[in-house]
Amino acid sequence: MTDCIFCKIITGDIPSTNVFRDEQVTAFRDLHPAAPTHIMIVPNKHIDSVNMLTNDDEQLIGHLFTTAKQLAAQEGIAEDGYRLIINTNANAGQTVFHIHLHLLGGAPMQHPMG
Ligand code: AMP
Ligand code: ZN
Repeated sequence: MTDCIFCKIITGDIPSTNVFRDEQVTAFRDLHPAAPTHIMIVPNKHIDSVNMLTNDDEQLIGHLFTTAKQLAAQEGIAEDGYRLIINTNANAGQTVFHIHLHLLGGAPMQHPMG
């Protein structure tokens, strides 16, 4: 997608602090971190949101989570704990419409709901 900021990060057209890359996913540090560790994990393929997932994407979405687990260990936050978030559409506050898993950790967090 030509006007998608995360697609441009994946292709290298917009700079980012890359932390991981393989054939299926890319991970980079959030520009405005909400926690000491705040990493975005995104599929290399453009998908707008969870609403647009198909059965064919199940392995890919699983891979986002196993990548998150690996990065949490790498960042040293696995033991203390971390939060994984996927926002979908307006009520959840989704601002970038390329599906992404937030990996947040490094400090205690408030209760997540609402
Ligand atoms: P969401 O609100 O769930 O759509 O999350 C979008 C996230 O993308 C926010 O946490 C932003 O800080 C982050 N973000 C936006 N632009 C960039 C960028 N160029 N590089 C890294 N993170 C970004
Ligand atoms: Zn995209």
